[in-house]
Order: sequence, then C-alpha cells, then structure tokens
Amino acid sequence: MVVCLKVKKEHGESAKQFLQQKGWLDTSLLIGKTELRYLILPISGKFDPKILQKKFPGSKFEEKNLKGIPPRAGDLKHLLQHLLKDEEVNELIKSYDTVGDIAILDIPPKLDRLAKSIAWSFKRSFPNIKVVARKMGRVGSSSEEYRLRKYEILTGEKRLITMHKEAGIQMHVDLEKAYFSPRSSHERERVAALVQKGENVLVMFAGIGPYALAIASEQPGAHITAIEINPEAVKLMEENIRINRLGFAVTPILGDVTEVLPKLNQKFDRIIMPYPERSWDFLNLAFKYANKNAAIQFYAFVREDRLADTELKIKKIAEKENRKVRAIKVLKAGSYAPKTWRYVFDIKIR
Ligand code: SAH
Repeated sequence: MVVCLKVKKEHGESAKQFLQQKGWLDTSLLIGKTELRYLILPISGKFDPKILQKKFPGSKFEEKNLKGIPPRAGDLKHLLQHLLKDEEVNELIKSYDTVGDIAILDIPPKLDRLAKSIAWSFKRSFPNIKVVARKMGRVGSSSEEYRLRKYEILTGEKRLITMHKEAGIQMHVDLEKAYFSPRSSHERERVAALVQKGENVLVMFAGIGPYALAIASEQPGAHITAIEINPEAVKLMEENIRINRLGFAVTPILGDVTEVLPKLNQKFDRIIMPYPERSWDFLNLAFKYANKNAAIQFYAFVREDRLADTELKIKKIAEKENRKVRAIKVLKAGSYAPKTWRYVFDIKIR
C-alpha cells in the first residue's frame, strides 16, 4: 500500500505534472483510476499535503495498492532475473549467439525446466529474432566429419535456415546441415587483411564459404580455391558466392582435400585450415601444396602450457615434407575449454 493523491480526472494531467516537478510522484508505479471520475497518483517523498489540497480542491489522500510499471520489452536481463540467479543470467547472456534472425542459446542441463521460459524472454527482448534454438550436444556430436551438432527449437518459427550478414557479406546458413559460427568473424577479417593482391589462396574445410568470401571481398585481386566435403555446405557456398557476386574470385570444389589436392595440380601462397579438431591430419598436405614463401593459417585446440611443444610438432611435420618453417606467430582465436584455446598458428615457410 502506498499513499496516493486521488484527484478529479480533469485535474489529472496538471496534478501529475505538478507532482513530477516537485519530485513527489512515485514513478515506479502505474497511475490508477476509479470507475467514476478520479485518477490515483502514487506519491512519494516529503510531499506537502496542504499545498496539494489547496492547489487541487476536492482531492483526497488515500492508501492504495497500485501495480508496478512493467519492464521495457527490450530488457533481457530484467526478464531473466525473474527466472534465474544473477550468475546464471550473466552466463546465458555471455554465451548466446545470433545467426541471422536465429538466437542460439547454450542452456545448461540443470536449467532444462526453464528452457522455454528463457527462450520466451529472448524472443520478447529482441523483436528481430524469429527463432530461438538451443544447442544440443557439442560440435561434431551429430556429425563428426561435417562438424554438426543438433539444435532444439524452443520457440518461434520451426526452421534453422536463415540469412546471416557479416562484414558486408550475406550468407545463407542452414545450421542443421552445414557448420557455421558467427564467432570467428574477427578472425576472418584478420586473415582477409593479410592477403596480398594476386595471391593464390586455398581454403581447406571451406564450409558455407565465410573465409573465402571475406578474403574475396577484402582482396578482390586474390584467387581463392575453397574445398569442402559436405555437399549441403557446398550448395550453400555456391549460392553465397553468387549472391555476393564474388564468383570471379572464388572457385568452390566439392570433395575431400586429400583427394582433390593431388588432382588440382596447383600450389598456393596461403593455405587456411579452419578445422581445429582434426587439422593435424592434414598439415602435411598443406606443406606439400604450399608455394615458396607461403603462409599457412593453422587452427588447433591446444592447452596453453603446450604451445612450445606444438610449435616443435609443426616444425617436425614440415621437415618430413622437406619444408623449412621460417616463423610461427601464435594468436588466441576463441575459447574452448578451461586452459585450452582455439589457437591460430600463422606459419611462414621458406
Ligand atoms: N571454414 C568454415 C567451416 C569450418 S567446419 C567456417 O569457418 O565456417 C570444418 C568443415 O570441414 C566442415 O564443413 C566439414 O564438412 C569440412 N571437412 C571435414 N573434413 C574434410 C575434408 N577431408 N575435406 C574437405 N572438407 C572437410
């Protein structure tokens, strides 16, 4: 119950303004009205009843139960705080991704019960989100080779297909059929900026084409070959090359890099290997098909205390292919597990 000023409707607007000016209006509560002719204005602070009564004759002070003002629709944190502990709210807000108009949540199993309500909060907060989905299992749990995981659609339209925009490039994405993550966009920008005019670039494990397209749009003078084994991903990549009008720069190839490369009869100035679980199995191939003075962007999950060993391992593989590593620069390019990161090794060879 709060103290309210009950005023005639015709005085309502001026009374509200007067209370606001004086700082006497309780703005956390909704203004009420009676069925007949009165408005109920919640008041707070040290109001002066005499002044109010003089200014608004016929008004009364009454104790009332007024509803609180509901939070703005956009306030995700506020909505989630009704359901969850603060640290759970922070964890959810930190870990979700958006791909096109799909929000992808990472909800821990202990919050199973609340999954739908959490999804509704996201949907309410972001009017542009049309689908709210939840990650089920880890990357590779539904197809190791294609790097797919399952998703459960929690609310919204029943689809996992969308159009995603990244640095001026549009991409058709189908989360169910082909790997895509928006998280590597900065890394793609970084790599694209390294590419020089006229470079012959190979993207192994090209997926739906984000690396190839980022490079082509940043450096239209490069020639890019993009190899991918998943037929659904290649279909999307072809479509994505077409809609971005980058066909002059990117050649997509369906197939296994180990089978395609020997047939191509080409060597490359730069080779990009974004398949961190298994890129080790293909590093020898990269050294084999690298030009003199080439660069390799090699991605791998590595424990932070194993970096020195990892560099040695890379050099040994190079030696087996009779190549010499000139320099290796290591950068973090994503988190993976405690003390283990997705690293990129920028390898320069002679
Ligand atoms: N570069 C993309 C995709 C990375 S996921 C991106 O960043 O979004 C790794 C991709 O490698 C998957 O699409 C998978 O289908 C593909 N792949 C796995 N083994 C392959 C192989 N031997 N040859 C070519 N592509 C392969």
